[in-house]
Amino acid sequence: MPQDADTETFPLVCHRCGKELAAGTASLYVVGIEAFADPTPPPDTDDRPPAEISADINQLIEQMRGLSEQELMDQVYRRLTLLLCTPCYRHWIDNPTG
Ligand SMILES: [Zn+2]
Repeated sequence: MPQDADTETFPLVCHRCGKELAAGTASLYVVGIEAFADPTPPPDTDDRPPAEISADINQLIEQMRGLSEQELMDQVYRRLTLLLCTPCYRHWIDNPTG
């Protein structure tokens, strides 16, 4: 099996304070965050004339043209994995939306 020295020696750092973390010492937390856009479809109350609706759709397509595929994905779904040292974890878990 090929050895990847870069990966093996890559330091683990706290994503909040930048402190170096040592694996296997019970001094770090791995925090997984999943965020979704509201999956509920909008209520079907669009009774405007079709021409008006398609003008809106064209405008939306124009706006989306400026965004990369990744940016479009990020607007709907994000998954993050954070490493936190113990003090940062305690601070964060008490106020995760702060
Ligand atoms: Zn920290």
